[in-house]
Amino acid sequence: MDRVQELLLSLLSPPPHLCYLCERECEPSEDGLCDDCRRKLKLAIAPAPPEYVDGLTAGLQYCEELGTLFYRFKVNERRDYTPFLAQFISIPQEWRAELLLPVPLYRWREYQRTYNQSYLLAQYVSSRYQIPICRELLTRTRSTPQQKLLPSKQRKKNLRGAFLAAPECKGRSIVLIDDVVTTGTTISECARTLKKAGAYKVYAACVACSGR
Ligand SMILES: [Zn+2]
Repeated sequence: MDRVQELLLSLLSPPPHLCYLCERECEPSEDGLCDDCRRKLKLAIAPAPPEYVDGLTAGLQYCEELGTLFYRFKVNERRDYTPFLAQFISIPQEWRAELLLPVPLYRWREYQRTYNQSYLLAQYVSSRYQIPICRELLTRTRSTPQQKLLPSKQRKKNLRGAFLAAPECKGRSIVLIDDVVTTGTTISECARTLKKAGAYKVYAACVACSGR
């Protein structure tokens, strides 16, 4: 086979499917995972919502392998992971959600990263549930050190006053969208700020969460 034929053949055959978690070649599957990884991942069971949050859903239990995947999603610009991850986000009907709010990044952080991963996820969730996104409800007013690097006592202090809510949140049922909820302090502070500004209910829906 000459090189032209080889090239044509490679263009005609679809690229091999790689498992989202281990990145090994595997048979294409509905959830994008290979059999081994599907067995490894555990579904999250009724995670407890942190203070000020009226309800929390998470598709998966956080684990080390997922940490690597989220790192690729956030830092290595793997935006193509979005539909795979968004499939694990769910919004119960009884929440009567009116608006989706991706957890905001500090402007400079978003500029450096070129995108907010929670906003990418929210776009998928928005079209699946037909709930509009309103990013303007909350702004991050300053950069804060990463929560997981701090001892638990300092986490709340670290975030106090880091967000600013818009008056449009008054009386609304809002769902915060985030990729991972670990300590819960970020969504808790978001919810506290929104409620102080008059939000009726604040829920949170994420891909994965760790048992706290
Ligand atoms: Zn795999």
